[in-house]
Amino acid sequence: MSALLGRRAVVVGAGLGGLSVAGALADSFERIEILERDRLTAIIGSRSGTPQDRHPHALLAGGLRALDEIFPGFADDLARAGAVSVRVAQDIQFERPDFGVAPKRDFGISLLCASRPLIEFVLRHRAETTANIALRPQCRVTEIVPAKTNDAVQGVRIDAGSGSSEIIAADLVVDASGRGALTLALLDALDWQRPEVTEVGVDISYASAMVEIPPGAPSDWKLAVTFPDPPHLAWSAVLLPIEGNRWMVLVANRGVIARLETRESFLEACRSLITPTIYDALRPAEPPGGIRHYGFPASLWRHFEQLPGLPRGLLPVADALCRFNPVYGQGMSVAAKQARLLQDVSGRVLAEADPLAALQAGFMEEVASVLETPWNMSTGPDLAFPSTRGSRPEKFEEAQQFEAALFRAIVVDPVVHRALTEVGQLLQPNSLLQTPDIMRRIGAVSAGKRA
Ligand SMILES: Cc1cc2nc3c(=O)[nH]c(=O)nc-3n(C[C@H](O)[C@H](O)[C@H](O)COP(=O)(O)OP(=O)(O)OC[C@H]3O[C@@H](n4cnc5c(N)ncnc54)[C@H](O)[C@@H]3O)c2cc1C
Repeated sequence: MSALLGRRAVVVGAGLGGLSVAGALADSFERIEILERDRLTAIIGSRSGTPQDRHPHALLAGGLRALDEIFPGFADDLARAGAVSVRVAQDIQFERPDFGVAPKRDFGISLLCASRPLIEFVLRHRAETTANIALRPQCRVTEIVPAKTNDAVQGVRIDAGSGSSEIIAADLVVDASGRGALTLALLDALDWQRPEVTEVGVDISYASAMVEIPPGAPSDWKLAVTFPDPPHLAWSAVLLPIEGNRWMVLVANRGVIARLETRESFLEACRSLITPTIYDALRPAEPPGGIRHYGFPASLWRHFEQLPGLPRGLLPVADALCRFNPVYGQGMSVAAKQARLLQDVSGRVLAEADPLAALQAGFMEEVASVLETPWNMSTGPDLAFPSTRGSRPEKFEEAQQFEAALFRAIVVDPVVHRALTEVGQLLQPNSLLQTPDIMRRIGAVSAGKRA
């Protein structure tokens, strides 16, 4: 082990954010403890702390790459555990109202599709088998405890059962509890400023089902995404393959909708989509074992990065920092990319006078660059619905026209298609789409000529 940033780091939450951050910091602390309120079993399955795990979860190529860099060999482990390899664009039926179906092209980028419990299980195994990472299940954190000086943290208080509590001291406390409530409570207790919040109210209603892939399933795609047609049609859907020869399918709408309790009502909802692709694929399948529902009110970015400072030794990450509309499948990947950023920053701050403070400041300075692309990619289309709550950015109409032109261009120009694919998979920043070559190509298609 090389030089260290501190002796003990405590990570609250063993979700995707907590596990990847623990791996990212493993070389920088003597010991890392992940405290998780749930019981964690050796069986791959849902758990109460992550109710979202019963719904489809896509790990985008940028997220998979980040996890593979943090835990080398992670992608091989996931594939061996049964995840399904999907070549982006080539194996994906990507449907939008403006152009129909995107061309199938192979850009040499692959995803691994699996259930969220399997992804988490493989990641947890990697964390658990890292020598200096310890996982403490059934350990609920009740408070992040401030230092006596009131400008730093001294550790966390945990519920030790029978009404008693215990303090675990730590140099660094990472809040990966999903909601950020512990961090906000600490700021309130210290009378520190809370972050500004950007909120985009989408009021998404979700229904998900899992089915066995029926014989005779389409052979020209493995994963299907069908977009809505705003403002008239809000139904959208994703169908993805997971381990065990199954599909996970979700249909989503906006506002309050009737629960889809039966196979018939689920299929009927699929029939409302802009194309019959997913309906036709599902019709021959055996009825799903159960249909799960989820409501997601709003995407939410808590701008901790804009605060003048945070108590020394405190780091909110992943959903605690920014929650994305799940329809776009970005949350896990963004969590993994934040962990990767933390790993990078931790390697750069060792020579600083106060490396822990530099780690916190460095992460906060750069984290917006990880969040901006997925945030813009998902809130842009959401804000196209008049019912979406939240202020439209400046030049919103122009941005929408650009998006429409961009999607027209991907149909005819593979270079633009590749660029959008790389940005959508979080392999490249949004700014790639504004480079002169891509802009020229988009302009050429709009003007009716090939680039
Ligand atoms: C319906 C739905 C579908 C989604 N689909 C996708 C998708 O397709 N692709 C994608 O990338 N993302 C998706 N997401 C988002 C994704 O689940 C999260 O972004 C991702 O899990 C990272 O979150 P996290 O680690 O911050 O929180 P989580 O994964 O939610 O983990 C938080 C953990 O903290 C624990 N915890 C909470 N409080 C305490 C406490 N006080 N003490 C100890 N432990 C605590 C919880 O038990 C939990 O284990 C979806 C989300 C939803 C809601």
